[in-house]
Amino acid sequence: MREHYDIIVVGGGPAGINAALAAGRRRKKVLLIERHGFLGGMSTIAGVYPWMTFHTGEGKQVIRGIADEIVERLKERKASPGHLRDTCGFVYTVTPYDPEVYKVLVVEMLREAGVDILVHSFVDDLRLRDSATIDTIQITSKSGRRRVSADFFIDTSGDADLAYLAGAPTEKGRPDDKRTQPMTTKFRMRGVDLKKVKAAILADPDNFYPKTPIKELSELPLTAVQGFYSQWKRARLPIKRDQVLFFAGPAEDEVLVNMTRVQGLDGTDVEDLSKAEYEGRKQVLLVADFLKEWIPGFETASISSVGAQIGIRETRRIVGQYTLTQEDVTAGRRFADVICRSGYPIDIHSPSGNHVEVARVSGDGAFDIPYRSLVPQRIDNLLVAGRCLSASHEAIATSRLTPSAMGTGQAAGTAAALCLESGDRPADVDIWFLQEQLIEDRMVLS
Ligand SMILES: Cc1cc2nc3c(=O)[nH]c(=O)nc-3n(C[C@H](O)[C@H](O)[C@H](O)COP(=O)(O)OP(=O)(O)OC[C@H]3O[C@@H](n4cnc5c(N)ncnc54)[C@H](O)[C@@H]3O)c2cc1C
Repeated sequence: MREHYDIIVVGGGPAGINAALAAGRRRKKVLLIERHGFLGGMSTIAGVYPWMTFHTGEGKQVIRGIADEIVERLKERKASPGHLRDTCGFVYTVTPYDPEVYKVLVVEMLREAGVDILVHSFVDDLRLRDSATIDTIQITSKSGRRRVSADFFIDTSGDADLAYLAGAPTEKGRPDDKRTQPMTTKFRMRGVDLKKVKAAILADPDNFYPKTPIKELSELPLTAVQGFYSQWKRARLPIKRDQVLFFAGPAEDEVLVNMTRVQGLDGTDVEDLSKAEYEGRKQVLLVADFLKEWIPGFETASISSVGAQIGIRETRRIVGQYTLTQEDVTAGRRFADVICRSGYPIDIHSPSGNHVEVARVSGDGAFDIPYRSLVPQRIDNLLVAGRCLSASHEAIATSRLTPSAMGTGQAAGTAAALCLESGDRPADVDIWFLQEQLIEDRMVLS
């Protein structure tokens, strides 16, 4: 490890991995820092789930680039079947993957790109050179504390930790009461008979999400199941949720369950996190017992794994040069400085109720994420990508999803490298040149 880097990326989730890959492939000396012992962020911390989604509701693929390369390399290792039709009909495609292979594959890809990786390393302080430039960051680990410097930084911590520590404006939650989407402890069960599950859907279609493609279902491999409304209602579990939701895989007899909900706690407050971890794990046991007792196919199933920590959907986000809004998403708005597109609808797990609010994308089925949403205020050598980019409480409920986190990560890594080459501040980057580079690197911007 060096004392000085061209670019330091803080946070090894999907956004950070792709940011570091993009910058490393441009021959920059890059350090990627992650507080856990593995990479993948919420995509691997909280269990496995399909990536949702690389496509619009009509089936046009709008997220490619490094994200698609990762899917292709997972396919080569038989660790993903690629993009499959979503069998609950919430989106057009879902992309299942094996998280253990993803964790190893991305380290190999980062090494190929010459990126240094530090895991078990928490960034908890920084020093500014002047009021607008980050000089060094402090890493706390088993080896003690050390400072590392860089010319440029990318915050992919999901919680905007770096931006916050640097004094860039950030915000949290919905505007009126600052409450965020609930946290969820995900878990997997094996020994599930998915044929029985499918038969139960076909026998009682009204008991499932209305977009479930019932007519085609017998021909499709089961990927997602949303419903079993009547069973859930009758069981009356003390969890603010309105339905059963699980995803098939990665093993043939395995599912990932997304049903626990811990509301009213702050994912950046350590006391709240301590309460949330206990509550989430308690709910896992309740839900697993419910599934075994009430849902056909689960009779002899058992828990095969529980997320390494509770899954956190929403915390701090930056207030950047532009804040993406709900209207931008639902209108499918185009921006001259687009750096990533997405077709995933707004999907807000209620901060206080038991429902999910959904708002779909109109226009051509995709909306643009503008470059300005990655650019924080006040700090001149920092970009942000992924879950903590600048978006309203509603708009972050789509841009936080993994494919767009990967896409904005690639854009931030590329832009950071261009800034170093040109000497431009992030706010002054040549947007046409950046877009040209992203298109050359197979991102879809139109
Ligand atoms: C319950 C739940 C269900 C979800 N379901 C889906 C789904 O079905 N499909 C889908 O596509 N997406 C889903 N998502 C969303 C998706 O997983 C995340 O939003 C996505 O991983 C965001 O990527 P990111 O890289 O921006 O942030 P994160 O994945 O949050 O990664 C941030 C990384 O930074 C690290 N970090 C944080 N602070 C520091 C620090 N100070 N120092 C060092 N490291 C730090 C963290 O450990 C983490 O690894 C779900 C998320 C949750 C929580």
